[in-house]
Amino acid sequence: MNTDITTKIEIQKVKESSLNKATLNGRKFGSTFTDHMFICTYKNGKWQDAKITPYQPLQLQPSSRVFHYGQAVFEGMKAYKDSNDQIWLFRPDENQKRINASAKRLAMPELPKELFFEGLETLLKMEKEWIPTADGNSLYIRPFMIATGNGIFAAPSDEYTFMIICSPSGKYYSKDVQVVIAEHYSRAANGGVGAAKAAGNYGAQFYPTQKAIDQGYDQIIWTDANHEYLEEAGTMNVFFRINNTLITAPTSERILDGITRKSIIAIAKKQGINVEERKIKVTEIKEAAKNGTLKEMFGAGTAAVIVPISHFSHKEIDYKITDVKNRFSSQFKKQLTDIQYNKVNDEFGWRYKV
Ligand SMILES: *Cc1c(COP(=O)(O)O)cnc(C)c1O
Repeated sequence: MNTDITTKIEIQKVKESSLNKATLNGRKFGSTFTDHMFICTYKNGKWQDAKITPYQPLQLQPSSRVFHYGQAVFEGMKAYKDSNDQIWLFRPDENQKRINASAKRLAMPELPKELFFEGLETLLKMEKEWIPTADGNSLYIRPFMIATGNGIFAAPSDEYTFMIICSPSGKYYSKDVQVVIAEHYSRAANGGVGAAKAAGNYGAQFYPTQKAIDQGYDQIIWTDANHEYLEEAGTMNVFFRINNTLITAPTSERILDGITRKSIIAIAKKQGINVEERKIKVTEIKEAAKNGTLKEMFGAGTAAVIVPISHFSHKEIDYKITDVKNRFSSQFKKQLTDIQYNKVNDEFGWRYKV
């Protein structure tokens, strides 16, 4: 890894903050942004010009590679503030490693770990007042990298921009969701970019997802190439509880290796719950829904944390999941968020002090 950071972070502050404390909590997810952003550029084989500036528009040439060939990767993380005004992150080293893994798959340069953390922590300390503290609220952090070199010759760019922007956000979903199991469209393919947090993975699923939304569903559960096995939702990994066993698909070239997913597996195992990471047939879940052994189904990801799924549809038939008491999903969500908001001892060592 290139650890050769040639520049210190230059800081340009806003003249006047646009923070309105009265409306900080309960904001629509990812809709408003804090005063500042972190930005640095990759040029002549080096990351340079690291800056924190007011949140503002970018100036790019129309020939910037990102507009034409989609070289763009991102991450999603959150900052939490505890009752002593201390800022915390959750397993940020995992996001740092993952954005570099995604970048590599898209033929983009890796960002040195030191620069990622220096930019992130400096920015968070400046935006501390922007971290909402009401239940389910946090500061959503979006690190991303785009190809900003000019020219439309179909080849990787020679220049890149890495940025971090922050958005005070409320809950992603406020109720249980209903999903459709994919039978025609696919999110990812073997040997493709499904395991990378590539912008294009999202762009490609908006059309089929919008069709599902038009029919009254919230999300699609993607399946493998033959639409035989369940994989993940568009923004979340998916878990199933059959009787008292927790099941989730193994990560692969088509499935994103979610940090929430692996944290839930660790929490469940520690609690003595039987966890199976294995391939799950659509027919198995349909059968379990019919015979009443499918007790729960839920999505898991940083943005939404854990979202219970109340219904799924497959081939135009709706299956309702019985509402059980003492849901695994509620227990895991509480344990996870208690660690994130520094309400309990962190026996896993996941919390990161800023
Ligand atoms: C980001 C993402 C997830 C969730 O990952 P976390 O690390 O838990 O936030 C799951 N699936 C896809 C496709 C994603 O992009």
